[in-house]
Amino acid sequence: MSGAFTTEAYARRMSRAAEQAAEAGLDGVLVTPGPDLAYFTGYSLVAHTARITMLTIPASGEPAMVVPILERPGAEAAPGAAVVALSDWADGADPYDATAKLLDPNGRYAVSDAAWAVHVLGLQRALPGSSYVAMANVLPMLRAIKDDQELERLAGAGAAVDAVFEEILRVPFAGRRETEIAAELAERMRVHGHSEVAFTVVGSGPNGASPHHEVGERTIEAGDMVVLDFGGTRDGYSSDITRTVHVGEPNGEEREVHELVRAAQQAAFEAVRPGVACEEVDHAARRVIAEAGYGEAFLHRTGHGIGVAGQEPPYIVEGETLPLEPGMCFSVEPGIYLTGRFGVRIEDIVTVTGDGGRRFNNVVRELQLVA
Ligand code: ZN
Ligand code: ZN
Ligand code: ZN
Repeated sequence: MSGAFTTEAYARRMSRAAEQAAEAGLDGVLVTPGPDLAYFTGYSLVAHTARITMLTIPASGEPAMVVPILERPGAEAAPGAAVVALSDWADGADPYDATAKLLDPNGRYAVSDAAWAVHVLGLQRALPGSSYVAMANVLPMLRAIKDDQELERLAGAGAAVDAVFEEILRVPFAGRRETEIAAELAERMRVHGHSEVAFTVVGSGPNGASPHHEVGERTIEAGDMVVLDFGGTRDGYSSDITRTVHVGEPNGEEREVHELVRAAQQAAFEAVRPGVACEEVDHAARRVIAEAGYGEAFLHRTGHGIGVAGQEPPYIVEGETLPLEPGMCFSVEPGIYLTGRFGVRIEDIVTVTGDGGRRFNNVVRELQLVA
């Protein structure tokens, strides 16, 4: 595992957030437990509806954090907290009064998307002149550009799931239920350093044709295509990979569809470079699939951003004209879904470099046969 992020790294993130808030005409950013708080301070905790924990990053001035008094020791131990003024409140006190002291009574603030409504409404009541907007709507790219240490963690998470895929190729598939393969994936992800397994999709035969199928009791048979899409959290950062395998010898159509998805995924990867609009990467994948006559069978966007959260901006989708910048990280995951028959998806996490793209998943993409 990589070493902890330094206090300076967290301080840089907070000052960048303050700048972005000022540029957006906001008075600051309000951060609540979840991916945002972990990103800005290294402090991870389960959010309570009953007790408010909130980091305030003003557009100008010093960051401050309000915590329940019984959680103060945990907050103080977070590396980012060293540059944050901590204040606490005890049970029985009004937590919104304590938080309101840190805010401009007439301010306009971006709030973490994962903030509990009860807390935002409590602040609104304490400061009737203030207003709140969702981070997703005003500062969607706050976490999008990763620094070198973050890239290292994402690369580590990618290498770990690559290793899991190599191992799963050696286990028997035919005659076993999807849930059994899913359990093997989960166990191996933990062995390879994941602290959390977020999802283990095993879509065999016709189940693979539904992009939202997770896992079921279907018994995998010889002749099945099997979509394997799995990911979680390792060292605070997310992994997410998809490979599609075949049980025994595939027929010509199965080979052809798999090869088409592989070519589409490669074309999208090659489209990645600074200055290119997100939607151009989507177009590159879609063009290959549409030209072969399967355009209608590519049912979803090409990709999503990834970092401390498994899905975050930028989105690689038609209509997203945002230009790629070095340090952005996202999935490239085209697929073809033939209803009632089978599906194929291939997914890698990619980062934008100075002049192109770099993959964090490098395990074999050609169709692999399993037993
Ligand atoms: Zn088959
Ligand atoms: Zn995935
Ligand atoms: Zn994904």
